[in-house]
Amino acid sequence: MNITIQDLQSYLSHRYSGWATEQSMFMKLVEEIGEVAEVLNKRAGRKFSSEEDLQTQLGTELADMLHYIVAIAAINDIDLTQVILEKDKLASVKYHHDVNLETFLTKTTD
Ligand SMILES: [Mg+2]
Repeated sequence: MNITIQDLQSYLSHRYSGWATEQSMFMKLVEEIGEVAEVLNKRAGRKFSSEEDLQTQLGTELADMLHYIVAIAAINDIDLTQVILEKDKLASVKYHHDVNLETFLTKTTD
């Protein structure tokens, strides 16, 4: 199954709008960033790791981060897809990329 940012944002808006606050979502995001850091430290040998499937854990924690990032956008009615496209377009010009995200997507879906 494929999901889009728009799908995730719509789902998280349904889940959080009306009761969750951006501050609480941001604090959860920071927690998840710490969990990503912990996995990366384990992978780099800077932190003891007894177990475990660190590749799977990294994916899980990155998904958690994305969840709260998109949730913050959702409860603020920010069209994250549009912002990503606009921001990438500006960055592509600024950093002289040969293709921007919108062009890339247009070419790969033709
Ligand atoms: Mg987590």
